[in-house]
Amino acid sequence: MTTNSYMTHLECSKCGTVHDADTLQQLCRECAAPLLVRYDLQAAAAHLKKEDLLTRPASLWRYKELLPVREEQNIVSFGEGMTPIYTAPRSGAQAGVPNLYIKDEGILPTGTFKARGAAVGVSKALEVGVKTLGMPTNGNAGGAWALYAARAGIQSYIVMPENAPTITRNETAISGADLFLVNGVISDAGKIVGKAVAENGWYDASTLKEPYRIEGKKTMGYEIAEQFNWDVPDVILYPTGGGVGLIAIYKALLELQEMGWIGDKMPRLVSVQASGCAPIVKAWQEGKKESEFWPDSETIAFGVNVPKALGDFLVLEAVYSTNGCAIAIDDADTLRAQQTLANLDGAFICPEGASLYAAVEQLKRQGWLKAEEKVLMLNTGAGLKYPNTVQINPPLLQPGDDLLQ
Ligand SMILES: *Cc1c(COP(=O)(O)O)cnc(C)c1O
Ligand SMILES: [Zn+2]
Repeated sequence: MTTNSYMTHLECSKCGTVHDADTLQQLCRECAAPLLVRYDLQAAAAHLKKEDLLTRPASLWRYKELLPVREEQNIVSFGEGMTPIYTAPRSGAQAGVPNLYIKDEGILPTGTFKARGAAVGVSKALEVGVKTLGMPTNGNAGGAWALYAARAGIQSYIVMPENAPTITRNETAISGADLFLVNGVISDAGKIVGKAVAENGWYDASTLKEPYRIEGKKTMGYEIAEQFNWDVPDVILYPTGGGVGLIAIYKALLELQEMGWIGDKMPRLVSVQASGCAPIVKAWQEGKKESEFWPDSETIAFGVNVPKALGDFLVLEAVYSTNGCAIAIDDADTLRAQQTLANLDGAFICPEGASLYAAVEQLKRQGWLKAEEKVLMLNTGAGLKYPNTVQINPPLLQPGDDLLQ
């Protein structure tokens, strides 16, 4: 059965060159920039109605007409998508932003939003005949892609920094992927993968080097619009590493505007990074269109430890054109924020996501956020994937002891 995808072609994000959407593609053949998937949105809007969604399964595949997979049989899925949006009323009140919301990607398969990119990326890889893929990762993407690839029968070679969270190593390895550790950062892993891919003719599944991962991630934008009843929030904060999630949410909202499913209002997009790795923030502060490599990057928020993102210019474009901003957060503030959200609102989220709350506090203090605004934090993963960020020392009792003495 067909998905009735309205995909028409791939378009270079820099030079606009058109590429075929149904054969294996990586970067633009003219200028080596990322390719973006384009759809016939007029036709989609003419045939598809918002109400059609209501009877569909609560997964990202409810938007299948606006995704790149052509045949249902190629869909590789664990039911990912339609994550909850809940309020954080006490943390919000404490920060002076009572209408604070969290979209919680921590409940997805593999515990992070990387499942979205993997579901759509692996499905499309299967559809264009990929047998083997290679990928550099800070951990979460590797775990997700390795497991979805296993489900698709695709072999994967995954390279991650030696100090990536242990749990991501384990989930990658148990899938049967070939896992390698590198004594360096993700850019070092990327160089090693790039060489192996070129030598062996594998599919390069690096961030933005294949066009489809972003399509999976853009469903976060569709869901936000649908869950807010097509009346988008004022501000969306996103923890930015490679920046695909932010680029993708922006792409989704532009597509929905073109389809007439949402109005002209565009949320201000905030790119949040760690102080120990903040190339996008630096570029934004300097008014630049691209970032520079950030040397000796370091942060506990491992998913955002990306010293130079291939799609940096797209992240910056999304921030500039929505009147958003970019802000860097110290790890100490991130850890404090993680604790506040768990204490006050019971939300145990990952450090990347928690850094957004510290950003909300600072932006409110600076007057950039207004008290009445609807502010959405995009929590990218589960706190459970980072058990070591919580340091505790509970009292040890002997059998028969009194609890309170
Ligand atoms: C990968 C990752 C990020 C960064 O996502 P990008 O879209 O690549 O910027 C943020 N948080 C977590 C938990 C991640 O795994
Ligand atoms: Zn190009």
